[in-house]
Amino acid sequence: KQIANIRNFSIIAHIDHGKSTLADRFLQLTGTISEREMQEQLLDDMDLEKERGITIKSHPIQMVYTAQDGQEYYMNLIDTPGHVDFSYEVSRSLAACDGAILVIDAAQGIEAQTLSNIYLAMDNDLTILPVLNKVDLPSARPEEVGMQVAELLGVEPEEILHCSAKTGEGVVEILEQIVHDIPGPSYSGKTTTEALVFDSVFDSYRGAIAYVRIFEGELSKGDKIKFLHTNREYEIVELGRLGLKRTSLTTLTTGQVGYVICNIKELDDIKIGDTITTIADPSDTPITGYKEVKPMVFSGLYPVDKGEYENLRQALDKLKLNDSSLTFEPESSQALGFGFRTGFLGLLHMEITQERLRREFNVEIITTVPNVVYHIILKSGEERFVERPGDLPAPGDIETILEPIAKVQIITPTDYTGAIMKLCEEKRGNLDHMEYLETTRVNLHYHIPMAELMLDFFDKLKSVSSGYASMDYEFDGYSADALVRLDILINKEPVDAFSTIVHRDDAYHIGQQLTVKLKELIPRQMFQVAIQAAIGSKVIARSTVKAYRKDVTAKCYGGDISRKKKLLQKQKEGKKKMKSIGKIELPQKAFLAVLDRN
Ligand code: GDP
Ligand code: MG
Repeated sequence: KQIANIRNFSIIAHIDHGKSTLADRFLQLTGTISEREMQEQLLDDMDLEKERGITIKSHPIQMVYTAQDGQEYYMNLIDTPGHVDFSYEVSRSLAACDGAILVIDAAQGIEAQTLSNIYLAMDNDLTILPVLNKVDLPSARPEEVGMQVAELLGVEPEEILHCSAKTGEGVVEILEQIVHDIPGPSYSGKTTTEALVFDSVFDSYRGAIAYVRIFEGELSKGDKIKFLHTNREYEIVELGRLGLKRTSLTTLTTGQVGYVICNIKELDDIKIGDTITTIADPSDTPITGYKEVKPMVFSGLYPVDKGEYENLRQALDKLKLNDSSLTFEPESSQALGFGFRTGFLGLLHMEITQERLRREFNVEIITTVPNVVYHIILKSGEERFVERPGDLPAPGDIETILEPIAKVQIITPTDYTGAIMKLCEEKRGNLDHMEYLETTRVNLHYHIPMAELMLDFFDKLKSVSSGYASMDYEFDGYSADALVRLDILINKEPVDAFSTIVHRDDAYHIGQQLTVKLKELIPRQMFQVAIQAAIGSKVIARSTVKAYRKDVTAKCYGGDISRKKKLLQKQKEGKKKMKSIGKIELPQKAFLAVLDRN
């Protein structure tokens, strides 16, 4: 059975192909927002998102559209995060939809995220409506790109809509096609209630709010409900639909999308992908696809100023309120003092979090080299997962180290194929296969260790392809390799924050680079400083910082007191940015240098 007047859909696209602009046109055309309220890219409301041109958090929004058939349709546009780090969230948002509008820039053509989005939409059995956007651009090639898209989706090129989200041309036709081609929500008519939690947000007054799509039955204010995966029970305090703002209703019925508030204190208590049922009409079959998301990347976060520890903790607590996928626990390091081991879904998630700590909370932080989670098999047969290089057992006890591998797709003009293949090889990549999208564009399928993607892969890919290559990746399991822990010792003391896990063949080279770099960065001391790189007890590279007596006030001869004071003050400020290891002051730059392996 189907509900005729509801359409639940999302817009999927490669970054910059025009998803937000098209969403804005929909909101305007349906009168969901007035001209006055209209601002460019309404749906991307975080500064950071705007700057990076990515949508991190999704907002569902309901529009009422009076179609050419004279009927009113409730159109729920469910926005998805635009980055692979959040692919589980994307998949849950798509699971709440019946269709997806696939936006392709008619000048750029198919890109890596176009493909990964198509796969996600297909996995969720969505009706895909392909749309070629930016046809107003002189460089648009709608015929060519249309042929490729048609072939990819198995449709006729004539069926593909053309539009300009910028000028508004062709946008009404898209709304009409949504009405005609995307099916209304279907339901089996069983008597139990099942609602999918596809997103959640935190509101400082109302607590954690769940965004839901009702698949069977209905939810009403006052209902006693249960989350099937967490097994928690609550009472619904308020529910309703989501326009620009929340509008409360008494009931959400089958097929509808809306929000549910039930005095849940923490975001973490609502699991995305969970199923809500009612105590009155309980279901025991959760909606499929639920997964517990686990951090993939870990990094130590330390306050530059030891006195800021408490501030850092509070800032992380606050971020966690709005981001349940962020994990952190206290850790201490001989070198850096007290800080937090922090887990992220991926690299972008890590960068965003670190940036927000600096900008929104004003905490100056030092971050250790990010690392992936290693799967260790010990000679004793015991297995464990290691989240920080320092926790790696002694080399003699280890049977095998397995590392996470990413399945990577890179789409590039053929001119850059050689340079990209070389880069992938340097990053220990294995070419699985390649396929031509057209004679001058190719899709390279690689397996590359996640750890290698983490450092500078994206930047390098952009640079070797002059910005033309696009990529996407997903976790594809663990695989064994000859990995070792590389330690850095300063005056014979290992500095835990500098330990990394690297491939045996790269260890010597990386050890050399690090010791040379650190030599440049560690200021001279009154004694000699020995810097060594070692695997276990074997030193593989070393450098030395010669002794030097640094006294900035020496030249002042006691004459100009204020100048002397100023210099001392400067020196003091400089010291703040340093981390002392034993008696040696290490500048923050030294820690960052370890990240940068160029
Ligand atoms: P998103 O990353 O997919 O959300 O893409 P945006 O909607 O942010 O659009 C990326 C850029 O393309 C912006 O500068 C838009 O103004 C521009 N853009 C979007 N649609 C069109 C279009 O139809 N024609 C032209 N010329 N530019 C467009
Ligand atoms: Mg956008």
